[in-house]
Amino acid sequence: MVSKRLQEIPASGTIAISNLVSQMKAEGADVISLSMGEPDFTTPENIIEACCGSLREGFTHYTPSAGIPELRKAIADSARLDGIPCGPSNVLVTPCKQAIFMTALAYIDPGDEVILFDPSWVSYEACIRLAGGVPVYVPLSFENGFVPDPAAVEAAITPKTKMIIINTPSNPTGCVIPAGVLKEISDIAVSRGVRILSDEIYSSIVYRNRHTSIASFPGVFDNTIVVSGLSKSYAMTGWRLGWALAPEADISAINKLQSHSISCAVSFVQKAAVEALTGPQDSKIAMVAEFRKRRDLVLDLLSEIPGFQCSVPDGAFYVFPKYNRDVPSAKLCEILLREGHIAVTPGTAFGPGGEGFFRISYAASEDQLREGIGRIRSVISGL
Ligand code: GLU
Repeated sequence: MVSKRLQEIPASGTIAISNLVSQMKAEGADVISLSMGEPDFTTPENIIEACCGSLREGFTHYTPSAGIPELRKAIADSARLDGIPCGPSNVLVTPCKQAIFMTALAYIDPGDEVILFDPSWVSYEACIRLAGGVPVYVPLSFENGFVPDPAAVEAAITPKTKMIIINTPSNPTGCVIPAGVLKEISDIAVSRGVRILSDEIYSSIVYRNRHTSIASFPGVFDNTIVVSGLSKSYAMTGWRLGWALAPEADISAINKLQSHSISCAVSFVQKAAVEALTGPQDSKIAMVAEFRKRRDLVLDLLSEIPGFQCSVPDGAFYVFPKYNRDVPSAKLCEILLREGHIAVTPGTAFGPGGEGFFRISYAASEDQLREGIGRIRSVISGL
């Protein structure tokens, strides 16, 4: 019998669909997947070369648990460009999801409350619950473009509140939280002694203004753990390389967990990550430009489906359409997959507020987007 802790947690909704799509494809089904949040581009060549070079040089052993010094420095240098006041000793190299999981284990005691937005990425709630914490959802509204309301955050704080999770640009809505709203939330969190976990994995995929990190406001970094990584910005999902940025005491606490779990991030991938961050950035810039074109295409195509409404996302590579059919989101996605061979993610995978929505990842080719949304349209017209 697995632990009670684990029994209470559903498997990840995003990963479950991805596994199902892989299985259907292996069985020969012509499935188009707009479900997984993963760039369809190949990792840039210079990064692949750096990885192969380090393998050939025999860089295949353990590294210091917090990461190799040149990568910790490269990460800190790039975070400072976002105004985060950090240096190499504020960096722990680890996969981004591992950073979230370890942060939850490091700071949440049984019964502690953690504020998160509804909808938000699937695994935050699981990490909170696995640590014994209690997720407290603050609803976001479609009408307000899924921008959080600082007054609602303040109202959700109780003496048990330990942490708030911020994710901008956001998965699943693509919302970029305006700097003024982030500032208000940071003022509330700091004054009420609530630690901030800021997931900035989509920080370089923004279409209007430069990314604002909540940790860039004066005094906020002392109260914040920022997590990010290379998966989305450099098309490196399979490399599993990310980091946590935090005050030194927090880094050493989280590093204790790292030393007892994965020991260190993959050695040769760390070398490749140095090249990603310090080498030419043209591939990354080109990918973001391409995502932007695809976002516009997807919004155009969806606007032609009667009864669909979309807020315009300013970042990440997701749209979160609202539909007007009387079918639960999970059921709708099942019908789309079964009848149309088109995979998208139910809104409810991201919290109860996702009912009536589903998520499209437009990290797919233009042809696939046209064909996939055409399939959605034809299945929906029969409902
Ligand atoms: N973050 C991506 C997504 O939401 C990848 C899967 C996962 O980590 O949940 O699709």
